[in-house]
Amino acid sequence: MLQHVGRYLALQPIALPLGPDLKPIYQELGGGHGYSIALSDFQDGLSVDLSQWKSFEIDETAETLTIGPGVTISEVFDPLQEAGFQIQSGTCGCPSLIGVTLGGGAGRYQGIHGLVIDALVSIRMITAAGELIELSKDSHPDLFWAIRGAGANFGVVTSATYKLNRLVNQGNFLHADFYFSAEKSHDYFKIIESFNDNLPANLATIVLINYNSSTNSIQVGGNWVYFGPEKEGLKTLKPVFDLGPIASVISVVPYKRLLVTTGGGYDTLVCQGHMVRDLYSLNQKTYSASGWQKGFDKMAKFFDEHPGGRNSALVFEVFPNQATASVASDETAFPWRDARGYIIGHFIWDEGDTATAIAANKLGIELRDELVRTSGYDEPSVFVNYARGDEGLENIYGKEKLPRLAKLKKIWDPNNVFAYNNCPIPMDYPLSQRDEL
Ligand SMILES: Cc1cc2nc3c(=O)[nH]c(=O)nc-3n(C[C@H](O)[C@H](O)[C@H](O)COP(=O)(O)OP(=O)(O)OC[C@H]3O[C@@H](n4cnc5c(N)ncnc54)[C@H](O)[C@@H]3O)c2cc1C
Repeated sequence: MLQHVGRYLALQPIALPLGPDLKPIYQELGGGHGYSIALSDFQDGLSVDLSQWKSFEIDETAETLTIGPGVTISEVFDPLQEAGFQIQSGTCGCPSLIGVTLGGGAGRYQGIHGLVIDALVSIRMITAAGELIELSKDSHPDLFWAIRGAGANFGVVTSATYKLNRLVNQGNFLHADFYFSAEKSHDYFKIIESFNDNLPANLATIVLINYNSSTNSIQVGGNWVYFGPEKEGLKTLKPVFDLGPIASVISVVPYKRLLVTTGGGYDTLVCQGHMVRDLYSLNQKTYSASGWQKGFDKMAKFFDEHPGGRNSALVFEVFPNQATASVASDETAFPWRDARGYIIGHFIWDEGDTATAIAANKLGIELRDELVRTSGYDEPSVFVNYARGDEGLENIYGKEKLPRLAKLKKIWDPNNVFAYNNCPIPMDYPLSQRDEL
């Protein structure tokens, strides 16, 4: 029961012939990196594996990229950089770009380019009725609104076209990894807290609280990326240098090498398949040194008491949102344009280690309850791509978006065949008391 591991159950496609008594339900697989525990509820339906569908076309005149559903994030970098472009993407290379797009698509570029959906020009989709349609601002604009944030609930996306950005700073970014010992954690968090009112649009950091098996102790690390000239970036990061890290690696990296460089290979680690991974996440609007320190202390206790969980991490993604917030909220179904990052409790243990599994799940819930208080949101708000699936509809999709989403769901998927990515969108909203029970 504790093995709520959406991602890796999702990697085992189930292809059953649909008999007369079986509800025709579908699950689409792009990169095979869905996290939601709801994905593991999927049974007796048809899983459509799109991972080999790797169509790829750059139109240099229109400055657009059109891809198929199997194209992963890491596969777009080389050809884009060669053509002089970059695109906003997530922070890891393994998920499909379309899969990431459907929930909004968060990442370091939120300050300068916006969310991945903000680059989306059009998509082609097969509806629940089996019709192939094109969605854009001019073609089925309502559904185009819905798929930009709640896109896993309406059909099978067979291609997506994105507007590209010219390379920033000729595609050369300053990248810095830092690691600090436990006693510096609060001071490090204070530095990040000082960016609360003035985080530059071209600066992003991912704070990682994890266990260092060489020093046998908890540590806090951070990878910083500055989309701009090296000198400017180094000046901005001076307070971090001055704090005295135990280790640091600074380099200028080309756009196409950014993800494989960050966190000394963190991408490879988190992209490893066939592992138990359990996520508890929240959005954050404010960076709180005291709140994060409470999280740090809880992780320290967990690592002490449960060596089997020492590959786990507490992650604070600190992303500016200037370009994201410049898009009006009613443009898309994505509800959290005010978010300036995400908090992720990312738990890993060996299959069969029930004691660690129980402790990790208990801690995940505690962290979520604790960190929401300093997240800047009154209620827990959760980015759909990082959702666990147990948070509740409003917390994931936003109360104000749900009436319109429900209307569209009723029109485009009345039999609810696309229902396994987090809490399914209901046919009616507000829910009647009976539905809520
Ligand atoms: C290591 C890692 C790093 C991540 N980093 C980020 C990040 O930086 N930013 C971010 O925004 N998200 C991130 N995510 C979350 C990611 O966006 C979601 O997990 C996403 O659903 C993965 O898509 P996928 O196609 O790879 O996964 P899959 O398991 O193949 O798909 C998950 C679900 O998405 C839907 N889906 C996928 N493709 C299609 C399609 N073509 N048509 C219709 N529905 C589809 C389906 O409901 C499917 O069940 C990360 C996930 C992982 C595992």
